[in-house]
Amino acid sequence: MGEKTILVWFRNDLRIHDNEILSEAIRKADKVLPVYVFDPYYFKTSASGVLKTGSFRARFLLESVSNLRANLQQFGAELLIRTGDPAEVLTQLAEEYHISEVYHHREVAPEETDVSEKVEAALWKMKLNLRHFIGHTMYHKEDLPFPIKDIPDSFVTFKKKVERDSNVRQCVTSPEQILIPEITDAGDLPTLADLGVPEPVDDSRATNHFTGGETEALNRLEQYFTTQQNCGQKAGKNVGGVASCLSPWLALGCVSPRQVYWEVVKYRSTLQNADALMLELLWRDYFRFMFKKHGQKYFRAEGFNDETPQPASNQDELFEHWKNGETGVPFIDAAMHELNATGYISNYSRQAVATYLTKELQVDWTRGALYFEEKLIDYSPASNWGNWAFVAGVGNDTKSNRYFNAAKPANQLDSKSDFISTWLPVSA
Ligand code: FAD
Repeated sequence: MGEKTILVWFRNDLRIHDNEILSEAIRKADKVLPVYVFDPYYFKTSASGVLKTGSFRARFLLESVSNLRANLQQFGAELLIRTGDPAEVLTQLAEEYHISEVYHHREVAPEETDVSEKVEAALWKMKLNLRHFIGHTMYHKEDLPFPIKDIPDSFVTFKKKVERDSNVRQCVTSPEQILIPEITDAGDLPTLADLGVPEPVDDSRATNHFTGGETEALNRLEQYFTTQQNCGQKAGKNVGGVASCLSPWLALGCVSPRQVYWEVVKYRSTLQNADALMLELLWRDYFRFMFKKHGQKYFRAEGFNDETPQPASNQDELFEHWKNGETGVPFIDAAMHELNATGYISNYSRQAVATYLTKELQVDWTRGALYFEEKLIDYSPASNWGNWAFVAGVGNDTKSNRYFNAAKPANQLDSKSDFISTWLPVSA
């Protein structure tokens, strides 16, 4: 019998540590073929000029893929990089490298699961299996005390039951060596121009500069625990929040939520925000599981309600003012300027601008969610659309409305802080 080679299809799991698809492939096969595919679908520009992936996130992704390649090379391995339709690319590589099986982490949002279904169907025609792993959450789906269809819609109940009846698994062991087949063409990392995305312009006012990749994620984690520095302190209020600023790395899987959890446990006795950080990670899990349970409902203007909220008659104009930071409300405008200039705003700012758009301006919340999808460096479908639906009051849990209290009416938002003078141009 010939050698067994498993293709490891990296997607939003751009790391070597605590990566079950990689460690399982190494355990099961003689050789592994690590692959990343840039799918042009995610870099398209709509007819109205909206990018699916904005400049800051696209650069962060390129840095993360590049770092994954460099880290794999330290193990004597390589990352194959291709651009194209994943179903075509992966079947072609499967043939070229005599692949026995393909491993990937299962996603929950419809666009991402559609891609996997197409890949699965294409591989199936070659009699190859796409094996799905679950690895994007802190609690493993199979350790939940209920099947997905019975997960409580109320966050409070979900939290209570999960914390009582479930445990977070240990991280999987990191590989010692990674054997790969002989590679003829590893492929170049595309540039932003290749992807059709403009170069981002770094703003000197930004509080954080995010560099993609596992190496930076682990540095950030270590720095957070050793200095306990709240990254959001200067960037507007982060009321009651934690502000580890780990979200961009968590979104691309440069670090696993499980690894963050175990670091929190390690530093628990000295970390002031340990419980708050766990709570935020649980919110992240909750939205992912809710996406798995309810799927497409999160993308509808009416959400989980029967009726679509009636938007303002001039919502086009109001939306333009909001996104350009021209509403006349200092805090909202400052936050939108920060978002546009950096791709990142604090949780408090997100709540405030989303509440303002939906409650005060009465604009269709899905427009705001789409705008965040373009701009956010940490965009993650379940966290973004789940939070927006929540703020808009069309989510599946109308009892745990933490945001309605958190975001004050716009005229009561802090209007004298450094944050506003930093982000609002004098003429605004
Ligand atoms: P911390 O407070 O340090 O929390 C640790 C981690 O927990 C975060 O990195 C994040 O992964 C997770 N987390 C924290 N709060 C939430 C939350 N409310 N929901 C889900 N996960 C959470 N977060 C994203 O990662 N991607 C998004 O696309 C996104 N869109 C949002 C849209 C709106 C309208 C709102 C109100 C919130 C959104 N969030 C999103 C959640 C939250 O604002 C960010 O996760 C948080 O600001 C990231 O900062 P941090 O890493 O310092 O978080």
